[in-house]
Amino acid sequence: LVIGAGLAGCASAASLAARGWQVTLLERHGDVAQEGSGNPQGVLYLKLSAHGTALSQLVISGFGYTRRLLHNLQSGRDWDTCGVLQIAFDNKEAARQAALSSAFASSLLRPVEHAEAEQLAGVALDSGGLFYPDAGWAHPPALCRWMIAHPAIEVIRHRQPVELRRVDKRWQALDREELLAEAPVVILAGAADVARFTQSAWLPLKRIRGQITGLPATERSATLRTVLCAKGYVAPPRDGLHTLGASFDFAQTDPTPSEAEHRSNLDMLEEISGDLYQRLQAANHEIADLQGRVAFRCTSPDYLPIVGPVADPALFADAYAVLGKDARQVPDTPCPWLDGLYVNTAHGSRGLITTPLSGELLAAWLDGEPLPVPRAIAEACHPNRFLLRKLIRRAD
Ligand SMILES: Cc1cc2nc3c(=O)[nH]c(=O)nc-3n(C[C@H](O)[C@H](O)[C@H](O)COP(=O)(O)OP(=O)(O)OC[C@H]3O[C@@H](n4cnc5c(N)ncnc54)[C@H](O)[C@@H]3O)c2cc1C
Repeated sequence: LVIGAGLAGCASAASLAARGWQVTLLERHGDVAQEGSGNPQGVLYLKLSAHGTALSQLVISGFGYTRRLLHNLQSGRDWDTCGVLQIAFDNKEAARQAALSSAFASSLLRPVEHAEAEQLAGVALDSGGLFYPDAGWAHPPALCRWMIAHPAIEVIRHRQPVELRRVDKRWQALDREELLAEAPVVILAGAADVARFTQSAWLPLKRIRGQITGLPATERSATLRTVLCAKGYVAPPRDGLHTLGASFDFAQTDPTPSEAEHRSNLDMLEEISGDLYQRLQAANHEIADLQGRVAFRCTSPDYLPIVGPVADPALFADAYAVLGKDARQVPDTPCPWLDGLYVNTAHGSRGLITTPLSGELLAAWLDGEPLPVPRAIAEACHPNRFLLRKLIRRAD
């Protein structure tokens, strides 16, 4: 049973169905990909570190895996491998890019001077940057739909369980007293709403509001050949609209687009390329008439996704209390798992890259297979890391 049909839930369902599981996918809306995963265009954006962090390694592996999946979708309509150009918009960013270009293979990313950057972009820019030739954009709902198109996956729409109960080694998903579904294994993939269930309420999840703006393509904006990123991003058009985005707001919870954020998205566009801003006649649009969409990202304190089995936090603290005194101990105590309960969430601003691989990671945990990422990365994404840190902090 998977709860939540965004990218994380659809990817989890797909990876399990591919291994022979019968999957029920519960979604509260009338269709899949209606919340975070519902934007018309998402960028395959590789936010990397030159220091080989776990997040950076996950992003590299996830990018390769997502790219392979995207070949199953219709190019041009559902995704486009048009490349992504990260603009070196200030000295700090230029230094970061220089470090990245010495740390990674030139087939993944390469520095481009101002003239080449403009040639790749098809519009005038203020500087060069870093070009990711195999990146681009994708339509997340199309990826969701493709992932769940499997005879072993049953999608049940308009159902919102609010409670989980363990009865006779099975999990029951209930809406008040109505039993919606039951199964021996449950995967929570409802983004920040994962924390609404009592069993997973301890997970440190944050919601970040984001707004995108859709600008109608013009004859002169058709020259844009690649995704451009600086503080925000703009993509070549899909269905006649360029997606610009996206705002970041930890405080706001209003789900309707605001004029202020449309304005800040347009400002970001002007910073990316004044020429493209002109070509799109961005200044001529009535802000109130602009198309836009608000959704919520879900993130964790260390910005890594949370993927894996869920333990009982109170029993965990008891079982490993010794670590609170001496963090170097390796206690030989079995983990007090909530048997059959798993989570796949906190994909932040890069769910296109991390969710499909996380589905594979989860399925590997469940089936006892070799993990699809190095052990250290799987552990860096493991839900128990927060329980462990809490105990060990007490030992400091
Ligand atoms: C403005 C914005 C721009 C973004 N741009 C990019 C980008 O360019 N590139 C990129 O890779 N990523 C981007 N992201 C991030 C990406 O969209 C997310 O990482 C991804 O969508 C997360 O997928 P998810 O399945 O975890 O969450 P969601 O897509 O939010 O899915 C969660 C689902 O669970 C359902 N649900 C929750 N609780 C329940 C319940 N109790 N019962 C039933 N259903 C439930 C919800 O209805 C929802 O359908 C962006 C996000 C935003 C908001």
